[in-house]
Amino acid sequence: MKPTLPTSLPDYSYLGTLKQLYHDIDLAINNHFNDFPDHKKTLPCKDGCSACCSQFFEISEGEALYILYYVSLQSIDFQQKAKESLDIAFSRFVHEFASFYQSHFKYSDTELFDYEAYFNDPIRFEIRIPCPFLSVQGSCTIYPARPIICRTTGSSYTTLDDCGEICEIIPSSLKSHQWQADLRHFQDRIWSFSELSLLDRDDSSNSPFDSDEIIELRQFPLFYSLYELLCLPASFEEAYLSPLFKDYLTLTRSELEKKLFHKLIL
Ligand code: SF4
Repeated sequence: MKPTLPTSLPDYSYLGTLKQLYHDIDLAINNHFNDFPDHKKTLPCKDGCSACCSQFFEISEGEALYILYYVSLQSIDFQQKAKESLDIAFSRFVHEFASFYQSHFKYSDTELFDYEAYFNDPIRFEIRIPCPFLSVQGSCTIYPARPIICRTTGSSYTTLDDCGEICEIIPSSLKSHQWQADLRHFQDRIWSFSELSLLDRDDSSNSPFDSDEIIELRQFPLFYSLYELLCLPASFEEAYLSPLFKDYLTLTRSELEKKLFHKLIL
């Protein structure tokens, strides 16, 4: 069924501000490679390479909902294929990494989810499942809606820390800085999309936290979040008309934050 969603996002909405951040990041990366064409030649990331697209990484809930928004505007055939691919990825995860899934995702929707154990489990670094939106030709089928990690991995950096290898092809994040775009000035804006700021809350008296705290929102692997959003509902219409999706599409950031207490990493 065709969605009944706006074809443009309100600027003030959470997803509208995320779209602006995507635009600004893309512009900064493009400007870098225009200014330093030699860096573009040195960059190991080439058309058709998808080495990083099978890695196990997390995205914020807002980024997952932005992808859902993008999918909702595509053809029914595209949506159906996306759903099938998500089903396959999720099934692979549950069956091939059964003990990891059972140990960590049993309480994924509650405060009992143990992020420290999850992020530090060595199995997490070994999981390889191709992204459901990766085409057989090795290109991204949701390119305009890809999350921040996909926009920046390989091409740019947000910290000068040694983060280890980037993918099977790029073995050192430190060495990569010689060709990458410097996006350190974006770090706060990027973090802000996976955090809930409790500053300036007018109902902080109802909050279990100090009013100046910043708390992280839940983050899950791309295929896991999209499976929950697109495949678990009974129909596309139900997925696209869900209250959570509507909130991200229509509320301002501060209005949305007031509704997200149950989605905190505690
Ligand atoms: S969203 Fe696109 S770029 Fe990101 S992992 Fe999937 S296919 Fe690759």
